[in-house]
Amino acid sequence: NTNKSISAFKKSIELLPGGVNSPVRAFKSVGGNPLFIDRAKGATVWDIDGNSYLDFVASWGPMILGHAREEIVEAIQKAAEKGTSYGAPTLAENEMAELIISMVPSVEKVRMVNSGTEATMSALRLARGFTGKDKVVKFAGCFHGHADSFLIKAGSGAMTLSLPDSPGVTKAAAADTLTAEYNDLASVEALFNEFGSEIAAVIVEPVPGNMGVVLPKPGFLEGLRELTNRHKALLIFDEVITGFRLAPGGAQERLGVMPDLTTMGKIIGGGLPVGAYGGRKEIMDLLAPSGPVYQAGTLSGNPLAMAAGSRMLQILNDNPSIYKDLERKAARLEEGLNEQLKKSGTAGVINRIGSMMTLFFTELPEVNGFNDAMTSDTERYARHFNASLDKGFYFAPSAFECTF
Ligand code: PLP
Repeated sequence: NTNKSISAFKKSIELLPGGVNSPVRAFKSVGGNPLFIDRAKGATVWDIDGNSYLDFVASWGPMILGHAREEIVEAIQKAAEKGTSYGAPTLAENEMAELIISMVPSVEKVRMVNSGTEATMSALRLARGFTGKDKVVKFAGCFHGHADSFLIKAGSGAMTLSLPDSPGVTKAAAADTLTAEYNDLASVEALFNEFGSEIAAVIVEPVPGNMGVVLPKPGFLEGLRELTNRHKALLIFDEVITGFRLAPGGAQERLGVMPDLTTMGKIIGGGLPVGAYGGRKEIMDLLAPSGPVYQAGTLSGNPLAMAAGSRMLQILNDNPSIYKDLERKAARLEEGLNEQLKKSGTAGVINRIGSMMTLFFTELPEVNGFNDAMTSDTERYARHFNASLDKGFYFAPSAFECTF
C-alpha cells in the first residue's frame, strides 16, 4: 500500500528534530535540513544556492585527486560510450585487478564488489569458508560497514556511538561476533583463550579512521598477526579508508604488517561505487569458479566503475609525489589548526598519520568563536560531513587544488 507507506514515512521523518523536508538524507546535526550539492571541482564543492565550500574530507575519502579530475571524467565518458555489460569481465576489470595486486603488497588475487561494506562481508564469509570456523573478532569502535554483524558495537565516534543492540542485527550474527578493545592485545588473547578453536578471523581497521584516526600502539598489529597465526585464524585488514591513502599500498605498506585478506573501497572507485577484497592466492582460490565459495554480484566489476577506478589507481601508482604533497598539506593544516587552538584558548587534540587527521575538541567550543574564518555556512558544511563525530572534525584532504 504505497499511500500508507508514504504517510508512515512522512510521519517518521517529522519526528526528527528540526523537521525534514526532503525524501533523502538529512542530518540532525544541520538541523535536519539537507544541504544539496550541485557540483564539485578540485577541492571545492558548490551547493544549489551557489555557496562554495572547501572539501576537507575529500567526500569522506574517495576523492583523493579532487573532484572532476579530467582524466577520470574522460575515462568514464569513454567507457559509457562503449556501452556497459555485466557478467563477464572486461579488460578494464583485469587492468584494475593487476594494478591493485601490484600496489597492495599482500594481495595476490582480488575480487571486485560495489562497496566497502560488501568487501568486508565477502572477506568474512571467505574466512569462514577457508577456516571452517564461525566466530569473528572485531574491535569496538572500528567500523566495517552497515551490514548486520558489523553494526555490533560498530561505533563511529570514539567517545559516543556504540551500537550493541542495533536494530536489524540477527541473534546469529551477534553470537558469532566477539568484541575486543583496539590497542589492547590482552583483550584479543582472552577471546582466543576462550573461543580459540571457533575463531575464523580477526578484522581490524589498521588505523581506525572511524574512531578518529587512532594510531596503533607499537607491536599491536604485529601481535594480532602472531595471535592469528598461532590460532590458525585469518587476519583481515579493513583498508577501506587507509587503502591508497596512507601509501600507494595502504596501511600495510606504511606500517609493514601483512594481513591474509584486505578489504578496499572509497578511493579505489575513482568516485564511482567500487569495493574490492583480496589476499593470499591460496585463500582467494576458494572462491567459485575455482573453489566452492560462491560470490558474484550483478554489477560487480562494471566497466564504468572499472574505468574510473583503474584510471585513479594508475595516476596514484605513477605519481608517488602525490603522497608527499598530501602529507605536506595535512602537516600544514595540522600546524594551522594548532595555532588556532592556541590563539582561541580552545582545548583540543589532533591525531594524524599521513593525510588522515582528526581534531577532537576536549571541550566543545562555540565554533564561530573558535575561528572567525569559520563562517556558519562552513560550520554547517563541516558538520554535515562529520555528523558521526560528535566532538570532532575528520580531515582527509585531496591532492588537487587545495588552497593552502
Ligand atoms: N570499512 C571502513 C573502514 C569504512 O570506513 C567504511 C565506510 O566508511 C566501510 C568499511 C564501509 O564502506 P562503504 O561505505 O563503501 O560500504
